[in-house]
Amino acid sequence: MTDHYAVIGNPIAHSKSPQIHAQFAQQTGQRIDYQRLLAPLDGFADTVRRFIDSGGRGANVTVPFKLEAYALAEQRSERAQAAGAVNTLLFEAGRITGDNTDGVGLVRDISLNAGVMIKGKRVLLIGAGGAAQGVILPLLEQHPQSLTISNRTLSKADDLVRQFAHPALHTCAIDALSETYDIVINATSAGLSGDLPPLPGAIFNSASFAYDMLYAAQPTRFMQFAQRHGAVTRDGLGMLVEQAAESFYVWRGVRPDTAPVYKNLRAQV
Ligand code: NDP
Repeated sequence: MTDHYAVIGNPIAHSKSPQIHAQFAQQTGQRIDYQRLLAPLDGFADTVRRFIDSGGRGANVTVPFKLEAYALAEQRSERAQAAGAVNTLLFEAGRITGDNTDGVGLVRDISLNAGVMIKGKRVLLIGAGGAAQGVILPLLEQHPQSLTISNRTLSKADDLVRQFAHPALHTCAIDALSETYDIVINATSAGLSGDLPPLPGAIFNSASFAYDMLYAAQPTRFMQFAQRHGAVTRDGLGMLVEQAAESFYVWRGVRPDTAPVYKNLRAQV
């Protein structure tokens, strides 16, 4: 018996998730089929229900449906509740369960793959959109000395700090940033249009680690800026593979080896 999974989004043709999950399945001997599903912008819930009726066991959810997936889920994991969004759906015993694996994907990529410990570090998170919100709880669980959120629209960062109400969590306006951070994470979508938030170079020094959630064949503008100010950098391709591995684990109870999958994907980007 082959179990069916899918990634649902709009657009969806660009998604690398089918390639990633096919490699996980081959490596672990799991019999799964994983497809791309294009949902109409006003038809996410119908697409999910049709997929369940056709025998679907689970799905990844991507732009722009992560909030709708959250609303559709009948039960949600703690990390999905903290993220306010769902990127992983599990269809079991007639119920839809929502989870969010983006944050754990980021933390694994930083701590295991890049070998950078978050505990005790001063961390700066730039951005206050869906991706930023999804990584706050997993980052706090690593016990950083501080986690500062900075965003173009500062009120959104303030809202997140109020929501999580954690003593290590602060906000700082982008134009007021003056200290150096150990880890700087770019969770803005500025890079998608080739932009860079107006960051001061002084947030980096030669001991800083700069992470861009965006990934590309070449270092992103954020990575180039951080490198010019001495930081070691990494892009978000590893986060993509790690969040997929966590979804695979949620569905199948088996943890795939991400290193060879990351290597293959990197060669194709
Ligand atoms: P959202 O649209 O929810 O949030 C966008 C954020 O970027 C907001 O904080 C916004 O600020 C900020 N922003 C946008 N343009 C600029 C700009 N020109 N200058 C400064 N800040 C800007 O997007 P998401 O949070 O969903 O995604 C953010 C990024 O993370 C994307 O690039 C996405 O591709 C990436 N991502 C990567 C993943 C991976 O696996 N590697 C997983 C998930 C996301 P404001 O509030 O002021 O509008």
